[in-house]
Amino acid sequence: MLKKFQFIFLVLSSSLGYSQNCDDIIEDSVSYTTSMIYEDVVELMYKYSDVLSVDILGYSEFDQAIPLLKIEDSSFYGNKKPVLFVANIHAREFYSSKFLMKFTNHFLMSITNDSCTYNEASKYLKEYSFYIIPLANPDGLKIAQQDWDGIEQHRVEIDKIKRVGPYSDWKANGKGIDLNNNFDDGNFHLKHGRLFEENPASQGYKGDYPGQAIEAKLIQDLVDSIRPMITLSFHTKGDILFWADKGTHQKFKGLDTKLNKKASNKCGLIMARVSQNPKEYAAGLENYVRAKIDAIGVCVELSKPNNKDAQHPPEKFLELVWRKCKNLPLIYLNEFSRLYPEYSYLFD
Ligand SMILES: [Zn+2]
Repeated sequence: MLKKFQFIFLVLSSSLGYSQNCDDIIEDSVSYTTSMIYEDVVELMYKYSDVLSVDILGYSEFDQAIPLLKIEDSSFYGNKKPVLFVANIHAREFYSSKFLMKFTNHFLMSITNDSCTYNEASKYLKEYSFYIIPLANPDGLKIAQQDWDGIEQHRVEIDKIKRVGPYSDWKANGKGIDLNNNFDDGNFHLKHGRLFEENPASQGYKGDYPGQAIEAKLIQDLVDSIRPMITLSFHTKGDILFWADKGTHQKFKGLDTKLNKKASNKCGLIMARVSQNPKEYAAGLENYVRAKIDAIGVCVELSKPNNKDAQHPPEKFLELVWRKCKNLPLIYLNEFSRLYPEYSYLFD
């Protein structure tokens, strides 16, 4: 995959002439594939190289690149607050990747042209540095879309994994571990979710030990090194925010409540009740950041519930996700900036 990624870099760098206006490159109405995501990442990288840098966080179980985008104004000195946005922890949830890539594209457009989607986008770069992982689980996304290119050699082992429903419902990584059950939040041993599986499966298997899945471990290590003050992990079902758990809610002294109330009100998302039982809530990315680095972590479920595992059709993305939630990441940051003086002691 590295070769493929480098090849795309070269092709695009030699062929693209850019104009920095309101140019949305993320398409709106078809399934978002790994190769589309890679191509969009590279296009953004060349177009916005002043403020955007792209690294490879690492490689998935099946050797697919996991891109890490960083938006930062390096000409502006001073301590910046790191924030982390992650999508596609769950394989089938391609809306989450599309949302985060479209947010990134519109945010970058708006930095150079304030008449675009986000007014005064550049002011956020004086205060924040953005870390963005739009494709946390490339193997899983490929399996969910039956896009075997680059992972054909793993077909035999993939087919041995217990499959609950059609490929399009695949939620785990390529090895059959649900990444959002595999983080080392201190409660992994308690986790026994509703969809519990004892062995690798397309959903519901937490792994033998925390951090076993390469993809979860890579994100965990990034969190440990950059210590984001806010982590938003994007999923796709329910129009709901999972924003607090009983084990950590107390430590935020109401900051978590205030931030999520604002986002919930402005975007029309429900705030879940504070999760009570680690058997159900444990070992997600949001739990990890709350428990291990004492920072704000939210699981954002984009798009309305439909009472099934199947995702909404791709052509509904604009209506169900983008128009409703495009301001959500910056709503969190606006509210965080406003409240920070009162709560800065939490982050010392
Ligand atoms: Zn999910």
